[in-house]
Amino acid sequence: MPMPEAGSTEPTKVCSVCGKHSDEGYVELYKDHVLVSVTCRGCDITRRFDRHRDTGVITTWLVTEVAARNYDLSRGRTVDPRGRPIERADEVRAIAASLERIQIAVREFEQAVWFGGLQKAARASRTKGMRGHPDVGPVSLISYTMAGRAMVTIEDATTQVTLITIEDEEKPCMGLRGIEATEAQALALLKAVREAWAAGRVEMREDRGVSV
Ligand SMILES: [Zn+2]
Repeated sequence: MPMPEAGSTEPTKVCSVCGKHSDEGYVELYKDHVLVSVTCRGCDITRRFDRHRDTGVITTWLVTEVAARNYDLSRGRTVDPRGRPIERADEVRAIAASLERIQIAVREFEQAVWFGGLQKAARASRTKGMRGHPDVGPVSLISYTMAGRAMVTIEDATTQVTLITIEDEEKPCMGLRGIEATEAQALALLKAVREAWAAGRVEMREDRGVSV
């Protein structure tokens, strides 16, 4: 599920939400290759926090922002390194706690699935991409290796988690690289594949159609 957005720092733009010029860059949203909105980073992050508050959905850039704010909060700071107040502290702590629980499930997935055969299959594959057959209910599993890194995406029609690890590493080091899901949905995606894998119901096949 690619995110239709890209950053830009062209000086003439203004944010379609706050109407201000931003020197921190913009998020551009395209639909069918047509630019439909230009949002400054600040308003984009606000929108992502609002979406999480309303729906529980955690998105990749929210994870990045939460990590930075939680780092400062956990050291007792009330302002960020640029002197701005750290806003939405309670939400930051709640999302950080969700991410810790998801990371525990990622480690379980790593032990059961990655070290339980997926790593071996990825290393033996003649193609960069592989796909699990059959799908686990509505959930599909793909892996992709590139330059020594391996990425594993688990997704259904509306939710997704992407994990990253080192292709040849034998010690646990898998982490979350991308997400578009609530905590419960992310845990369910990981569990669905873990259980199907443990039951021997997933076979990885080489797939040239898989890309990142
Ligand atoms: Zn703005």
